Amino acid sequence: MFRLVADRLIAWHVRGQRALPWRDAPPGARDPYSVWVSEIMAQQTRLAVVVDYFNHWMARFPTLESLVRADQQEVLKLWEGLGYYSRARNLHRAAQILAREHAGKLPRTRRELLRLPGIGDYTAGAILSLAYGLPEPAIDGNVRRVLSRLWDIDDRIDSTPAQKKISSLARDLVEAGPQPAAVNEAMMELGALLCRPRNPLCRDCPLQSCCRAHARGVQDLRPVRAPRKQTPHVDFAAAVIWQDAPGDSPFLIARRPNEGLLGGLWSLPSARCEPEDQDLQACLRRALCEKLDLAIDVTGPLTTVQHAFTHFRMTLHAFHARIHRGTPRAVGYQEWRWTTLDEAERHAFSVPDRRITDALRAQAESPAST
Ligand code: SF4
Repeated sequence: MFRLVADRLIAWHVRGQRALPWRDAPPGARDPYSVWVSEIMAQQTRLAVVVDYFNHWMARFPTLESLVRADQQEVLKLWEGLGYYSRARNLHRAAQILAREHAGKLPRTRRELLRLPGIGDYTAGAILSLAYGLPEPAIDGNVRRVLSRLWDIDDRIDSTPAQKKISSLARDLVEAGPQPAAVNEAMMELGALLCRPRNPLCRDCPLQSCCRAHARGVQDLRPVRAPRKQTPHVDFAAAVIWQDAPGDSPFLIARRPNEGLLGGLWSLPSARCEPEDQDLQACLRRALCEKLDLAIDVTGPLTTVQHAFTHFRMTLHAFHARIHRGTPRAVGYQEWRWTTLDEAERHAFSVPDRRITDALRAQAESPAST
């Protein structure tokens, strides 16, 4: 069965694989650095979005050495809009470790790869197999789904028994034939294109005749998942603190600490609203006091931004403000500075913060509304 599945997967993949910039050589013989970068970028992100980011990245940092020499802010700026910024910070940190401890090369063992920041079990498997051609499984969400349907695994997918079965099946499959990398990549591709989370295209699937879930008509019920929890919602407040006249002078931006949500990015000073905050403006006054040692006056609303992170949804309420008392001190930030709208473009911001600067630009271009 394993050899049959492996052979069919590879034959299908040769015919139907998508052309992607990092697939510039057969699986198993690719540049380890570009495999690494593409795999990190593709985590939690659609490939259609990744392609442009990957091309820009490789144009600016074509080699691991060029990434080692880069400034973190430039790395984050190239990542702007892709989300999960710890991925970019970890790539940068890991590159420096590789330069120091591994002669600038990605190691060839899972154990050593797993010691690098940002490299988990899946990415390690992908590098070992797609770059070095080693018979190592690379189990991402697509592979998990394909295997749980092929073998009709009815344990909850996050349970230990299901994970053990999937690991063992994935290993047996990559060891079943002479092309382990091609099997890994074909399985990921099958999961992305045919064995989709909803409405799998079983009619077109090369594995239909050996798929147990399909034979039992339960493919839509696999993998078995825990009931979905409701995503919590959180209010945040942000301040555009003008140095002088609102809309017509520099405003204050601050760089977040490296650890935590959106770490290392520039932002408008902001804070999560806590139950003890009387209202959004009180939240801002408290936060600015704690994070920048400033007393501020909130002078009016600017815009409201909705954004979804993996674990929560956010409403970000942005206000105009001015300094009432004090000189900024970066207590809860790495640094702060005054900036103009044009200069702000050159800094790495998160998507919600960028939408606030977009609103500022819209106001600047429409003076009647300020
Ligand atoms: Fe997935 Fe359907 Fe193929 Fe089974 S037959 S592997 S459920 S696409």
